[in-house]
Amino acid sequence: MEAAHRVVIVGGGFAGLYAALTLKHVPVQVTVVDRRNFHLFQPLLCQVATGGLSPGDIAAPIRAVLSRCRNAHVMLGEVVGFDPARREVRLSDGTIAYDTLIVAVGARHHYFGHPEWHGWRGCSSICCIWSSSRTACSCSSSGRGTT
Ligand SMILES: Cc1cc2nc3c(=O)[nH]c(=O)nc-3n(C[C@H](O)[C@H](O)[C@H](O)COP(=O)(O)OP(=O)(O)OC[C@H]3O[C@@H](n4cnc5c(N)ncnc54)[C@H](O)[C@@H]3O)c2cc1C
Repeated sequence: MEAAHRVVIVGGGFAGLYAALTLKHVPVQVTVVDRRNFHLFQPLLCQVATGGLSPGDIAAPIRAVLSRCRNAHVMLGEVVGFDPARREVRLSDGTIAYDTLIVAVGARHHYFGHPEWHGWRGCSSICCIWSSSRTACSCSSSGRGTT
């Protein structure tokens, strides 16, 4: 029997999840790799930062989101590189072989050519659960909360 075509998707954000969901009925074997075990709904990070929502409200386990995709499985791992010649994704603790690779690792904030602004006088980015929660804590301890 011929081995299934292996699709590796790096990133369980919007792009990675939609790619996996789109392949739901395609006869391929999908592996979604993410450094986190949850999908984060980033547009609501500001509500967490201002104390309107709790972190759990905007995070969902990637396994749960893809539970109906019978051809997909989820792997927790930090991707550190790619070896296109060998068709392998390099993880901090191993490798995964692929036939087709989808890289959906998102984007990072930037400071318009001023990396030194990062962390300057409380100028922080709201890009993850931890930074949002930290902002909510610092707002409430300084009396700047929304309520
Ligand atoms: C505060 C905030 C508000 C926003 N509001 C809006 C909005 O109102 N409307 C809108 O359209 N967009 C909004 N966006 C933008 C939107 O959230 C992003 O465009 C979208 O999340 C990008 O999806 P993505 O799948 O490309 O990346 P992401 O959602 O960032 O997903 C990338 C995934 O890759 C994983 N990953 C990254 N590197 C590695 C690695 N080395 N190894 C393993 N896994 C890795 C991450 O853990 C993550 O799960 C907002 C963003 C932020 C930060």
